Amino acid sequence: MSSLFHPRRAVVPPRALKSFARVFQDAGFQCFLVGGAIRNIVMGNDPSDWDIATDASPEQVTGLFRRVIPTGAKHGTVTVLFRKEKLEVTTFRTESGYTDSRHPDAVSFASTIEEDLKRRDFTMNGMALNLETAAFVDPHGGIEDIRRRTVRAIGDPVERFNEDGLRVLRALRFAAQLGFEIEPETFKAIGRCRDRLDAVSAERIREELNRILESSRPSLGLRPAVESGVLEKILPELAACAGIEQAEPPRALRNRRPALQFDVLDHSLLACDGAPAEMLEVRTAALLHDIGKAPTYTRDEDGNISFHHHEEVSTEMAAAILTRLKYPNQFIRSVCHLIRQHMFHYQPDWSDAAVRRFVARVGASALPSLYLLRRADTYGKTGRPTPDANLDELARRVERVMHADAVLTIADLQINGNDLAAAGIPKGPLMGVVLNLLLETVLDDPTQNQKETLLRLARNFYREQVKPDSPHES
Ligand code: ATP
Ligand code: MG
Repeated sequence: MSSLFHPRRAVVPPRALKSFARVFQDAGFQCFLVGGAIRNIVMGNDPSDWDIATDASPEQVTGLFRRVIPTGAKHGTVTVLFRKEKLEVTTFRTESGYTDSRHPDAVSFASTIEEDLKRRDFTMNGMALNLETAAFVDPHGGIEDIRRRTVRAIGDPVERFNEDGLRVLRALRFAAQLGFEIEPETFKAIGRCRDRLDAVSAERIREELNRILESSRPSLGLRPAVESGVLEKILPELAACAGIEQAEPPRALRNRRPALQFDVLDHSLLACDGAPAEMLEVRTAALLHDIGKAPTYTRDEDGNISFHHHEEVSTEMAAAILTRLKYPNQFIRSVCHLIRQHMFHYQPDWSDAAVRRFVARVGASALPSLYLLRRADTYGKTGRPTPDANLDELARRVERVMHADAVLTIADLQINGNDLAAAGIPKGPLMGVVLNLLLETVLDDPTQNQKETLLRLARNFYREQVKPDSPHES
């Protein structure tokens, strides 16, 4: 069964799949491997998940196995747990009318694999392997397109994208994940059908965007998103960074003739590529860290460009974008924290107190990500991995203060809220202010971290905070 597969490596589906297929065969049904697994096998990669197509109805599949989860029975899909494998089993389908560009109005089942493959999105996803006979079915030239590294819609691309707006993003996602070009007619159709994304849920857009961001070079999907107008639909704030000149174009591009425009959008895409693929938070922060530059751009008479407090504006905009796309709150908080902190300017003359304040502000757990964001930001300016001795030195000094048992958080103080309460400072927001003032003091001068000293300082701070007419006064 392997001769049709990748010329360099014959990958045979695990034995469990053959036994799985035999259950279908014995009951008189067909069983095909389809989807991403076939694509991966053909490309010589390890399959990640198993999508199965069959002529058995969901009820019939449910009757064949012990452990079946009705994941999307309405759409013909059930999940079967078989030995150690998890298989998504979908009954052959055709696509009838779509009105909301997301869900077929009615699911009609089909009787042949060929009919089923016709309703799939791209040629590379429209191939199937008969698990009993090892016959390979490739009616739309998927193998050839994979060989040409091309994303091509099956059938009429405009029709296909109109049926389901999500396919527009899937095309860009596959371009990024696989490093494929999008075939010109398919690409034109993406531009024409981009408004169909209006009908796609935020969650599904987020999932595709994540897959773009987790691929080795997100710009391979994001650049065609810019050119087709799709970015404008999903991240209009980022699209608005096109044409906003970046203060410094990358050195490598500076002397190009004709002069190459390098704007905040170019910088953002490059920075995103420069962040580690396995760190979605850093990737997302890199993509969005400068979006505040569009609304804050100013240029004085001497031609100096500035973006006053853009990191604050970027942070607020990123929070709004990620909320709109329904990212989890913890994720939004982490990304926004990185964006807010991305403008630190370490100088070798920073005192240890300044280093401690930096750690206290960023938080020890966010430091590795913030360094990675800085490296990504630098990559976004140079277009290549660039040593940053300044950042390395800061990281070394941070290590040193952290190992010196330094006080870096309120929890490290020799005093706590109970001590303050016993000293007559009521629990509440004002106590928080006092604790922060104590931390500031100790960050500056660690010798002040003595219980008696802190109590004395706390009483003074509290007295200063409580105005004579304040409701906090006791
Ligand atoms: P991966 O699982 O690696 O993300 P995949 O191609 O398997 O990639 P799935 O979402 O698991 O993607 O879908 C399985 C198959 O179902 C696809 O290969 C494709 O044939 C078909 N498919 C999925 N979504 C769509 C869609 N929106 N329109 C048409 N066909 C689709
Ligand atoms: Mg899949």
